[in-house]
Amino acid sequence: MSSANLTRAEAEQRSADIEVHAYDIDLDLAVAPDPGATGFASTTTITFLSAGEDVRLDFIGEAVLAVMVNGQDRDLDGLWDGSALHLTGLLPNRTNRVQVRAIAAYSRTGQGLHRFVDPVDGETYVYSHLEPADARRVFATFEQPDLKASMILHVTAPVGWSVVANQEVGSQVPVGDTALRTTFHPTPPLSTYLVAVCAGPWHHVHDLWSQRSETSPLEVPLGLWCRASLAEYLDAEELFATTRKGLDLFHDLFGFPYPWGKYDQLFAPEYNIGAMENPGCITFNEKYLFTSRPTRQELAQRAGTILHEMSHLWFGDLVTPAWWDDLWLKESFAEYMGTRAEREVGFDEAWVAFAGARKEWAASADLMPTTHPIAADIPDLEAARQNFDGITYAKGAAVLRQLVAYVGEDAFFAGARLYFTRHAFGSAQLVDLLDALEATSGRNLRAWAEQWLQTAGVDELEVVGPEPGAGPGVLRLERTSPDAARRPHRIAVGLYLPDGDGHLARVRRSELDLSGDGAVVDLSLDPLGAELRGGGPAAADVWARPHLLLPNDDDLTYALTRLDPTSRATALAGAGGMVDPLAQAQVWSALWNDVREARLPAAAYLRAVLDHGGRLDSRDEESATTVLPRLVACVGTGIADYLPEVLRAPAWADAFDGAWRRLGAARPGSDQQLAWARAVVRFGGQVGSADADVVAAGLRSLVQEPGLAGLEVGPELRWGALVALAALDRVDDEELDRALAADPTAAARAHRLTARVARPGIETKQWAWDELHRSPAVWSNEEISAALAGFAVASQRELLTGFTPGYWAGLEQVWGRFPNEIAARLVSGLFPAVNEVDPDRPAAEHEVPAAARDWLATRSAAPAALRRLVVEQADAAERAIRAQQGVLALLAGEKG
Ligand SMILES: [Zn+2]
Repeated sequence: MSSANLTRAEAEQRSADIEVHAYDIDLDLAVAPDPGATGFASTTTITFLSAGEDVRLDFIGEAVLAVMVNGQDRDLDGLWDGSALHLTGLLPNRTNRVQVRAIAAYSRTGQGLHRFVDPVDGETYVYSHLEPADARRVFATFEQPDLKASMILHVTAPVGWSVVANQEVGSQVPVGDTALRTTFHPTPPLSTYLVAVCAGPWHHVHDLWSQRSETSPLEVPLGLWCRASLAEYLDAEELFATTRKGLDLFHDLFGFPYPWGKYDQLFAPEYNIGAMENPGCITFNEKYLFTSRPTRQELAQRAGTILHEMSHLWFGDLVTPAWWDDLWLKESFAEYMGTRAEREVGFDEAWVAFAGARKEWAASADLMPTTHPIAADIPDLEAARQNFDGITYAKGAAVLRQLVAYVGEDAFFAGARLYFTRHAFGSAQLVDLLDALEATSGRNLRAWAEQWLQTAGVDELEVVGPEPGAGPGVLRLERTSPDAARRPHRIAVGLYLPDGDGHLARVRRSELDLSGDGAVVDLSLDPLGAELRGGGPAAADVWARPHLLLPNDDDLTYALTRLDPTSRATALAGAGGMVDPLAQAQVWSALWNDVREARLPAAAYLRAVLDHGGRLDSRDEESATTVLPRLVACVGTGIADYLPEVLRAPAWADAFDGAWRRLGAARPGSDQQLAWARAVVRFGGQVGSADADVVAAGLRSLVQEPGLAGLEVGPELRWGALVALAALDRVDDEELDRALAADPTAAARAHRLTARVARPGIETKQWAWDELHRSPAVWSNEEISAALAGFAVASQRELLTGFTPGYWAGLEQVWGRFPNEIAARLVSGLFPAVNEVDPDRPAAEHEVPAAARDWLATRSAAPAALRRLVVEQADAAERAIRAQQGVLALLAGEKG
């Protein structure tokens, strides 16, 4: 195993051996704008108490120039292995002072100190992203979260640049005529992955938040930062408003004053994830600055992200998980608190989006063979990097929501406050949180934690029919579990009936505890259904009419829902007409679960979405549109992966036509109109050659003047249409170049790359394949993702079969050659797709899963993180084959 992949055992040992007092980090970015400068000088001085005479110090970069231990220069021979410095001869039980002078490398992968040149104005920007273990790509460090220390940062940067870091600027001194050395105030004790440095000619605006309480006045300076060329898209008023509301809210709930001084939020280019909670310097993906008109759902999502990060300033930054096993301690909390707070800052539909999209992310991860408990077992750093998944975030948050219900809101937040007080500026584990919550709630939580946090998998709930021997409306609910964990559920079951307008409205609801394999649901006694009570003719009649029974009504627990056959038929005919937006989101999830489990042909789901997905006759437009993008994405996956080859081309044409029809019917200027326009673009690029001319004409008319009344055609739609036209082979290089000349931004450059690679033609694909495999990478992280999006156009799978042998042969080299972030994208993005399916051959014996199994069997020594990706991709392939076989069997039955 590479020494870069630090293990938990090594980290625990190091934590026992040393106590770190302070870091002094000096970075020289004075010549960062010079593309010839591949690296920057990084000098780190660390003072720490050591029990023994030796310790490992982490650094990955271009060179180590000098190492000084307690004032004495060390011989560099054999000291550094490329990722770790093996220090010896320390003074035991004394404070040691180690200084490392090194050259670190600018990154183009988003890991470490990323450097970006803005094509609009030629300006250079750098920013750091260090989680989970890339601080060592910027400075010499003890790379583990529980070794916290105060950090002093000095950054030399060109005159005219701003440098933003975790704390306020302390002092500045000129270095020659062209550079300025900035020293920042020392931080409170901080984990190394939370250090932030962002330097460049940023555009910035400022404001101030102060606490309303008169007893403990607190003022927090607020800042917003973005590239100069994006200044017009920085909607500061809205961003500051959300930030202020969030700070009010979290001060009320957490009762611990914001401990990090100022609150800067910076939008960074080519950012790998949504955002990162560096204290005092939170970095965001700059896609959150909208260059095209955003939908309300996108604004809600951004608010949720701002609040997610904000809650981390307490859960994660103030009290940090000791090791990555307990990543959930911060991420589940942030996901829960972010969603909760999103609702409180004005997005009532926050839990609808959570139920309709985020929980789907959790369930799909939980259904894979690589599922894991929320409180995970993370043996090393490569595993840590993969643990930022749907289980850690969304399942954890859903389970926390149950915990809040279980112990009560007051006890939950009192427990949180106790936890902050006990562990402020330190680190913690699961047991520390349980201790605090038990102290404030008086409840024993060990059994609950074992059943919910320390087991893997997801239960499925289904109403299976009338309870034998009971009266009308008394039903039997059953659960199927992947294990014997018997997680306790508090659930509700709702009964929905069509009203006079054809809407589905709830008429009865029953809440119950489920601890065994099943439970009795008594819907005959519910006061909501008073007029139907008593077992008379009216009540009996209900069960003969179209109705919908929804297990896990109100989304109280974390479980998959399986609709009974009558309810499924009702849902397919009119889920979009459900009055309650949360129930509507859940019903769509249940239908998608059926598609994924090969119980419902994808075509039926597709028809339902195109007929009434996001229908506007539900109570409010916002909520109906909240889940629409998710439904459109599921339609795409459904056709590409869950329909047999023979049906795909007509299904893409149907999807395009259906989206076009819904687009035409949408209110001008509405989010619905925009959502369906995006769907038109998405489906249009996939249609077969027979439909290509008509579809291409439609796409062009969509984005050309005068266009559709009310539809704002921004760069996103315009480039989306060009990518689709490229996939249909209806656009040439000159047109793409003209479009880029008119919109010379970084985003446009990435879109142009997607479009170029999306064109059908083996030479194009071969070119992209070769470029993607070049090492060192010629493309940045963003460009690699853009190229992968164009490479894997679903309707071009036949073209790609020739790359399969090379994929399997080169996997380990790819993993070894590229940083994890890039390697993972290549491994997943180039994974061979399932094309033809044999109805009679077991799914596992098809070519793709069989090749994956062979690879896994013969590469037992391959890194665990790489194996995990292959296992997951192979599982998805098998799932697709089973779904396609289900459809083929139906077709055969119809013919026979
Ligand atoms: Zn987070």
